[in-house]
Amino acid sequence: MTDLASPTRAEIDLGAIRHNARTLLALAGPADVLGVVKANAYGHGAVAVTRALQEEGIGRFAVATVPEGIELREAGIDAPILVFAAPLPDALPAYARHALAVTVSSREVAETVAAFAETTGPLRAHVQVDTGMHRLGLRPDDLTDTVRLLTDAPGVEVDAVWTHFATADGDLGYARQQHEDFRALVDRLGSLRPPLVHASNGPFLLRCPADAARPGTLVRCGGVLYGLASSRELRPALQAADLRPAMRLTTRVVHLQTVQAGESVSYGRLWTAPGSRRIATLPLGYADGLPRTLTNRGHAGLHGRLFPIAGRVCMDMLMVDLGPPEGAAATVSLGDEAVLFGSGGPDIQDQAEAAGTMPYEMTCALSPRVPRVS
Ligand SMILES: *Cc1c(COP(=O)(O)O)cnc(C)c1O
Repeated sequence: MTDLASPTRAEIDLGAIRHNARTLLALAGPADVLGVVKANAYGHGAVAVTRALQEEGIGRFAVATVPEGIELREAGIDAPILVFAAPLPDALPAYARHALAVTVSSREVAETVAAFAETTGPLRAHVQVDTGMHRLGLRPDDLTDTVRLLTDAPGVEVDAVWTHFATADGDLGYARQQHEDFRALVDRLGSLRPPLVHASNGPFLLRCPADAARPGTLVRCGGVLYGLASSRELRPALQAADLRPAMRLTTRVVHLQTVQAGESVSYGRLWTAPGSRRIATLPLGYADGLPRTLTNRGHAGLHGRLFPIAGRVCMDMLMVDLGPPEGAAATVSLGDEAVLFGSGGPDIQDQAEAAGTMPYEMTCALSPRVPRVS
């Protein structure tokens, strides 16, 4: 019931997430969708989202960290779960205990995994090869030997080989080249080829569905499940596929005042009233995860109209310029709803761009102080 005491809330539309899941499953077929629910399902609530995705027919999941995987296990979710992170050796017992699949992204990790599985307990492995992202992954020349080492290691089950694209939402030529190189590497594995291969993320699926949707492959869908575009270029593709944003961030007006011409608002005096102005104070700020870079840039929606944020975004509050007191401001009262993104407020993409970031960061950044309500 503490949720009711918070004027700020993130409304999660599980119906939109379910709709997106069905849409993406249809688009990806005959490939399967791996539901990426890392970072608390991009801020939408990992357990509730994973359950909804399971009901729509998504059977595999990925998280970024071991604790994220444990959270799902402790909620009773027993589907296959891959952890994207590179494992440190002392984390392997937790992978074994919670049946989390390990990303093997170097020769050293492969040797550690093989030794652990032989002496301590079985592990499942997804072997990652680096085709151009240069974040994690084996050098292409090391792939075959490493897959062989793991295939021969007692207690290790090699589920998949995979790679990750650097520019799926940007330079498509580079992503296609990575995909071609990856397919050639997989072909070279011959009889060592594991049952699954995966390369495509959500953006690549939307832009190259024919390439992404191959039998025996998985498409790792993250942002698209939540109706979020990772780049401006991708926005039309999300709209064309009818993928729907699933989060709406709202709060309520806790204070109203009229300031006079020349008076400043908030820390640092970065905004000064050009005339008599009605100012609404909203009880959320950067401690709630709203970017401080929205200072003098973002908007809030009240009664379906957008009003600019006035002055510095504070830790726990921000102010909105409602304009002259006799204008639209006259309709705003204490307790009225204000929307920071979603229906009745700015589109999340526009708010993210105003903040100098992208929508994923907006939803991921929401702090535990903001209750998720679905
Ligand atoms: C986050 C992530 C994804 C999902 O990417 P989206 O752009 O959200 O679809 C896929 N693969 C890896 C390795 C990731 O880290």
